[in-house]
Amino acid sequence: GTETDYFVIDDEVVGKIFRPRQEFSHKGTHGKATMVAGSYGKIGAAVLSTRAALKAGAGLTFTLAPRCGYEILQTSCPEAMFVVGGEKYINSFEIDENSACGIGPGLGTDPETGKNLLQFLKDYSKPLILDADALNIISENKKNLKLIPQKSIITPHPKEFERLFGAAQNSFERLELARKKAAEFNIYIVLKDHHTQIITPEGKVYYNITGNAGLAKGGSGDILTGIITSLLAQGYTEEYAAVFGVWIHGKAADFAAEKYSKESMLPTDVINELGNVFEEIN
Ligand code: AMP
Ligand code: MG
Repeated sequence: GTETDYFVIDDEVVGKIFRPRQEFSHKGTHGKATMVAGSYGKIGAAVLSTRAALKAGAGLTFTLAPRCGYEILQTSCPEAMFVVGGEKYINSFEIDENSACGIGPGLGTDPETGKNLLQFLKDYSKPLILDADALNIISENKKNLKLIPQKSIITPHPKEFERLFGAAQNSFERLELARKKAAEFNIYIVLKDHHTQIITPEGKVYYNITGNAGLAKGGSGDILTGIITSLLAQGYTEEYAAVFGVWIHGKAADFAAEKYSKESMLPTDVINELGNVFEEIN
């Protein structure tokens, strides 16, 4: 790649991407987000991603989750609507094509879930956000990579990236591998790390400098998936939803660390700081 392919996500980039809410809008204007998340024992991942989607501004937010999460989700996310997708694990992926859809947080890798997710991917052609166990299911067979819809956003942490695409010697090699794979499969790769990188199918690389080690805690990634899904629902392009989402996530984490310390801040605190992030850029 050339130098011009690299961008640090600074205030100028964010200013160019951000679109303030229109005064004469209604919930339909701001799009539908659907989180496909959770399994028995991991309903928290569905709660976190759903709350993040709500707080990042989507007009309507749906959660497709197993029935065992019904009361939990309806109570902790009253603004969201619940769609039952199974009993303890999700095995029905019936998704409204008019919504932006994020699949994976806390999904689990039950064989039925895997089989049904892969079948769903075969029949679905709109861009998705794929994270966590959705990526782990895809990793089970390299042939599954071709099932990822064009222009989808995938959000692997280093271990998930390695399962998907193989090992790299160092972060430079990993970035080059990611560029190759983003082009090959026509997808956006959010390579999550201390400084997360977003790689586009055209080979552009965005480098994020917000965020801190307080995010090194279970649940942080689930929130990022909710934020990106919410932005895609609101009409941001795949590229901008990924770039802006990663920046917002890190910025909210920086506010949370200031208030509660990196040790004590929780993903929930990060969600609650999203308002301060939007306040600052509005
Ligand atoms: P996950 O592993 O899926 O929960 O995702 C973790 C999220 O937290 C990603 O967005 C990472 O970029 C972020 N994160 C984890 N550890 C750190 C760290 N030490 N510094 C900055 N961000 C981090
Ligand atoms: Mg994760």
